[in-house]
Amino acid sequence: MPIRLSKASLGPEEKNRICEVLDNDYLGMGTYVKTFEDNIKTYLQTSKEVVTANTGTSALHIAVEALNLNKGDYVAVPSITYVASLQAISAAGMIPLICDVKDNGFLDVQDLDKRIHSKVKAVMPVHYASSSNDMPEVYDYASSKKLRVIEDAAHSFGCLRNDKKVGAQSEEDIVCFSFDGIKNITCGEGGALLTSDKEVAKIAADVRLLAVENDTSARFQQKRSWDFDVKRQGYRYHLSNTHAAIGIEQLKKIETFRAKKAHIFASYLSSLSKIDGVKPLLNDLNNMIPHIFVIELQHAERKAALREFLLKNDIQSGEHYKPNHLLSFYKTDYELPKAMNFYKRHLSIPFHADLTDNEVEAVAQKISEFFHG
Ligand SMILES: *Cc1c(COP(=O)(O)O)cnc(C)c1O
Repeated sequence: MPIRLSKASLGPEEKNRICEVLDNDYLGMGTYVKTFEDNIKTYLQTSKEVVTANTGTSALHIAVEALNLNKGDYVAVPSITYVASLQAISAAGMIPLICDVKDNGFLDVQDLDKRIHSKVKAVMPVHYASSSNDMPEVYDYASSKKLRVIEDAAHSFGCLRNDKKVGAQSEEDIVCFSFDGIKNITCGEGGALLTSDKEVAKIAADVRLLAVENDTSARFQQKRSWDFDVKRQGYRYHLSNTHAAIGIEQLKKIETFRAKKAHIFASYLSSLSKIDGVKPLLNDLNNMIPHIFVIELQHAERKAALREFLLKNDIQSGEHYKPNHLLSFYKTDYELPKAMNFYKRHLSIPFHADLTDNEVEAVAQKISEFFHG
C-alpha cells in the first residue's frame, strides 16, 4: 500500500449517521443540512449567514453569481490555485484576470495592481496551503479599488487568524469552503459560503435550488415549494442530507484532526531541517490546520527525479498547482514568472490526519536518502 498524499479520516460515526439518513428515508436537502449549517456557525462562532452547497466549486460559483456583475466583467485570481477557482468565475460568465503569486503562493497584490482595469469588479484570493495571513493586504487594496472579495478558503476550514476563525473575521466579504473528500473536514463532497451580506446570502441560497424563491426554508422543514416564482438562472447545487450527515460527524472531530496534523507538521519540520536542498514552504503552524504540506527545492531541476524516487518507494507526492495560465481554456498572452518559478520548485508530500509516525518517518527518510544518498 502506498503512503497516500491525502485522504479523508473516517470512522464508524460517519457510517452510522449515513445509515440513520437512509433509515429516515429523506435523502435530499432537509434537516441534516440545516443542522450542519447551524453547527458550522456555532463552530466558527459567527452570526454570518451560512449557505452550504454540493461542492466547494459550486459555492464559489454561486458566490460570483450573487455579486450580480455584468457578463464579461473580470474577477482577479492567482495562477497558483486549483482550476476550480477559475471554473467558478467563468461558469458565472465572468473572465478570470490571472495574476502572479508571491513566494508563499499567495496572490501578489502588486501584480494585480499592474493588471487592473475598469472591468475588474472582484478578486478571489486563495488561502494557499491554509494560510490567509496576507488577507488584510487584499482587503486594503480591494477597498481602495471598490472590488468585492470572494475568498477561496477551500484549504482553511478551522484555521484561525488573530484568534478568530477564518469565516468569522469581521473584515471578510464572502468566504467559501470546500468539504470534498480530502479537505480539512469532508462531506464526501460539499462546500459552504459565508457572508454577512444578507442579499448575497439570499441569492446564493435560492440559486443553489434552481433559484426557486425561498425554497430553503421549505426544504429545512422537509417540505418543498409548489407555488413559486423564479427570477434568474439557478442550479442544482444544494447539499444533501446524505452528505451533510458525514459533515456533521466530521465537524465533531475537527479538533482531533487539528492536533494530529499539528503533530505531523512538527515532525516534518524537524526532519526537513536536517536535509540540505529542501525546506518547508511554511515553517510555522500559525493556528492553521494545514490541508497540504508543501516543500520547496533549492534546485528546481531535481523535482521530477525526487517525485519519481518517492513513487518508486511507494510514496505519493503532488503538485499544487499547475499554473492556470498554462491551460488552453485560460491561456494568457502575458507571462507570470513567479507562478512558473513557484510551480517548478514546489511539491507536496503525504499529509493527512491518519498518517502514522512510521509513515512520516519513512517519507522524511526517503527524502533524506534522495538528497544525501
Ligand atoms: C478543493 C478546492 C476547491 C474546490 O472545492 P471542491 O469541493 O473540490 O469543489 C477550490 N479551490 C481550491 C484551492 C481547492 O483546493
